[in-house]
Amino acid sequence: MKHLPFKNYMEDAVGYMLERLAPQYPDICMCDRCCTDMMMIALNNLPPRYVSTHKGDVLKRVEGMELQYEVEVLTETLRAMQIVGRKPHHGRNEEGI
Ligand SMILES: [Zn+2]
Repeated sequence: MKHLPFKNYMEDAVGYMLERLAPQYPDICMCDRCCTDMMMIALNNLPPRYVSTHKGDVLKRVEGMELQYEVEVLTETLRAMQIVGRKPHHGRNEEGI
């Protein structure tokens, strides 16, 4: 089957939101491991939204994100930050939550 490249737009949206929120929560660890956990938790709670990437620049679309998505992404990203912030996983080696 042939198809054009696509990706889950929510991955960029959550990453973008995390970068925007992180400075407001200096107490929450933002090491690679914790960021990964936060992204996975938020993404598991958000419906995937696949977009074609053949024209590139998904991030530009993320920045112009519709308000409805922004609220969803904000809510789930904040929730994930609180979960990981309370119980950071960076001392552990096993995969997953
Ligand atoms: Zn950490």
